Amino acid sequence: MRIGIPTESRSGERLVAATPRTVARLVALGYDVVVQRGAGDGATFGPGAYEVAGARTGDADEVWAADVVAKVNPPTAEEVRALRPGAVLVAMLSPATRPELVEELHARGVTALALDAVPRVSRAQALDVLSTLSNVAGYRAVVEAAQVYGGMFTGQVTAAGKTPPARVFVIGAGVAGLAAIGAAGAMGARVRAFDVRPEVGEQIESMGATFVQAAAAQQAVSADGYASALTAEQEVLTARMYAAETADADIVVTTALVRGYAPTTITAEMVHGMRPGSVIVDLAASGGGNCELTIPGEVVVSDDGITIVGYTDLTSRMPQHTSQLFGTNVVHLFELLTPGKDGELVLDLDDPVQRGMAVTVDGEVLWPPPPVAVSAVPPVPVPVVPRPPVDTQRRAQRRSIVLALVAVAVLFGISFAPAAFLGHFTVFALAVIVGYYVISNVSHSLHTPLMAQTNAISGIILVGALLQIGDDDPLVTVLAVVAASVASINVFGGFLVANRMIRMFRKDA
Ligand code: NAD
Repeated sequence: MRIGIPTESRSGERLVAATPRTVARLVALGYDVVVQRGAGDGATFGPGAYEVAGARTGDADEVWAADVVAKVNPPTAEEVRALRPGAVLVAMLSPATRPELVEELHARGVTALALDAVPRVSRAQALDVLSTLSNVAGYRAVVEAAQVYGGMFTGQVTAAGKTPPARVFVIGAGVAGLAAIGAAGAMGARVRAFDVRPEVGEQIESMGATFVQAAAAQQAVSADGYASALTAEQEVLTARMYAAETADADIVVTTALVRGYAPTTITAEMVHGMRPGSVIVDLAASGGGNCELTIPGEVVVSDDGITIVGYTDLTSRMPQHTSQLFGTNVVHLFELLTPGKDGELVLDLDDPVQRGMAVTVDGEVLWPPPPVAVSAVPPVPVPVVPRPPVDTQRRAQRRSIVLALVAVAVLFGISFAPAAFLGHFTVFALAVIVGYYVISNVSHSLHTPLMAQTNAISGIILVGALLQIGDDDPLVTVLAVVAASVASINVFGGFLVANRMIRMFRKDA
């Protein structure tokens, strides 16, 4: 079958649904690919690069006449008419908000798969273009903020004095929010973040940011991983916290989204309370905005000197990488749709992922799809087995007796042990206490370096144990063998785990 990749007709759009690298993968799946001449120019992919990758370049008529057309944005009415009846269209279609487009596709008799309707299940993450776009947008929001902000992100110490790091406050820690936290932290800012979903607190902290706690404003863990609208009481509590946090921040990135709707997080009064020179980047601008003063698509400066960035094309401002990631999502979809790897598209409507994306099939309207059980289910409650009542006083007594016996045994052991043992034992006991407090206070983001350090310690133990193997005292030899075995488990186990983690992050494209 032939896949056509057209030039995006939306004004100012620089993205393209396939890059030379992703085209090569579509060709490897058995498809004949034709790319409209100039389609990749905005993303720096010229026609020559597509041809080297195995595609042909052609004009718009040839591309729109293909068996399958893959594009980024919804087609115009004219583009729908250019599709062959029976053709397959793969694009973002916003079917929930564009009933007229669904009707046009239906009337044309095409099969339309909405890339923006991929169900939020773990298996479909590789096809999820919305996550891809939000990721890029979160990163770009910080780049835009850095461009407008009149200060440096990293704290500097110079001969002329010190400057503090920029303070960044991120509202909403979904895909875009976490990407913004990562980008701002990497640039050296001090980042704080809030989300109404309590379960994201750990993710915020693992990115090195401070999770702003407003317990009473937070919601219960939801069954489907989405936030719900705030109650009136929660709104008052979050507003109070937002006012304090925004007044203290140099940069605010707001990404709050509740089931496709953008709630107001920053009122005009809160903007008034911010320092002149501060910046707000409103990622929800295209949906009306989280900030009351946002004007979609524009950068405005308030009377108090606060800049509010309301760009709606953040992803298009990074066309090269966005197109590559978007194109890779498209390749993953085609891998799913081409079980025979023979260039023949086979739609399986029994697969909940494919069914979730199917808007029209052979002219029949299948939108909306049945609900899909998403992966972010709340933890299954563990049945609580009632324990027989135990007298707490008797339990405390028993614990004291055990501790006293241990203390007597240790004293007994020490008094009969050789003199050198006491010194070693003291060092051991102190090391256990210090180790316990150091490790339990290390932040999550530093766990990998910590693992590396424990591996290094295991290496030292291994060397020491190998030197002791063969000692005249059989007890020393046995202990050395045990130490060497246990330390080896840590060293080699560490390598195996690290290797597995690296493989999880490795991508073909
Ligand atoms: P998401 O659903 O993954 O995350 C939204 C987060 O906001 C969720 O974690 C939710 O719990 C949280 N939230 C909801 N209400 C809140 C409140 N009142 N206070 C604090 N947190 C709240 O969404 P996403 O994919 O990260 O997208 C975020 C925004 O970015 C959306 O508005 C999306 O349209 C926008 N976006 C913009 C561009 C662009 O170019 N401007 C591109 C992609 C995405």
